[in-house]
Amino acid sequence: MGKLLDLINKDTKHKNESKRMTVIIRQMVLIFMCVSLFNLVLDAFFIKSVQGSILWAVMLVVDGITFYLSYIAPKLIILTIFVFQKALWITAAVVLFGWEGGFQFFLILLVIMYSFGEAGYNRKKVLLDFCLFAMFIVFLIFFKGNPGKISIEHVDKSIQVVNALAFVIMVSIISFSFSKESQHMEDKLISYNNQLRKQASVDALTGLYNRRSTMEIVNDIVLQRRVMSICIGDIDFFKKINDSYGHDFGDTVLVSISDALKKETEEYGFVARWGGEEFLIVFADLNGDDAYIKLSHIRDTVKDLKLNHGKEEVRVKMTYGLTEYDYSKSFEDNIKDADEKLYLGKQNGRDMIVY
Ligand code: GH3
Ligand code: MG
Ligand code: MG
Repeated sequence: MGKLLDLINKDTKHKNESKRMTVIIRQMVLIFMCVSLFNLVLDAFFIKSVQGSILWAVMLVVDGITFYLSYIAPKLIILTIFVFQKALWITAAVVLFGWEGGFQFFLILLVIMYSFGEAGYNRKKVLLDFCLFAMFIVFLIFFKGNPGKISIEHVDKSIQVVNALAFVIMVSIISFSFSKESQHMEDKLISYNNQLRKQASVDALTGLYNRRSTMEIVNDIVLQRRVMSICIGDIDFFKKINDSYGHDFGDTVLVSISDALKKETEEYGFVARWGGEEFLIVFADLNGDDAYIKLSHIRDTVKDLKLNHGKEEVRVKMTYGLTEYDYSKSFEDNIKDADEKLYLGKQNGRDMIVY
């Protein structure tokens, strides 16, 4: 069974085309072979029709060839061969067993197969649909009510059951294959979209929100007119850290501080990377005085961070400009307030909160 599945799922030699349709054709061919085999046994041992037995034996060989071709020929050629040989298969079967055998309904399957196998809607499809429909009408006119050459009533029923079963299985396989594929594509697109959205809203080094997404979140709070305080914090003498220990260590410092700030603020707000070594801390629902208390704690935490460069323990300090959000001003002006306070802190010796 495993070997058969491998055989069905084996890729074609044509690298630039999907194997899905080829696999479906193989599955259809195998089911048609089962139908042919069933009819061969029926004709050879029960009805004892030489004509019928020869027909089914030939059909089995033709299907075998189509199956083999599916490994070497391009998809569209196999599909075309499949559709034409099956149209002949159906014609021969209707002539032998008449309308009652139900073989003509496989024409619908050819329409479905060709519709899925050929991309888009084109003249070839319309022409094929028309031909298959014409065949259906011809069968209806000439064979409905007329028993076929080797039709026997009690045998008709078993042929009908086998044909109906084969038809249902074939349509199910095609629908399943295509719905599985489109579901898979949809899942892939959704996860890719989420990934893109995350990439667009988060800073790659620190994982903190970037400016763009920060504006969106702050805008939401502003729209709700909630009390809020904002602070811009900047690492003191960061250039020295880069110069003394290297840019990579500088990056490590940025990540460590970001992690600490994220942890500190997650209960009442959030933190964003506002610039190179500048962070914007948003204290949602906290007025300036309450935010000052939280910020003092943040300042201590950052000062206590032990950053190891080899055996050396490096410490960093930051300066902060804190302001309560003033709704009479724009977002930009509030940021400017915090920035000016930060600047004051830098001028007056750093390592402080200016509020
Ligand atoms: P001050 O106390 O006045 O803030 O001094 P400073 O040296 O921190 O200030 P300045 O703004 O002059 O320097 C900031 C430095 O931060 C310059 C830049 O090379 C560094 N920097 C910015 N982004 C990154 C980054 O992503 N990684 C690393 N390693 N360094 C960065
Ligand atoms: Mg700095
Ligand atoms: Mg700076």
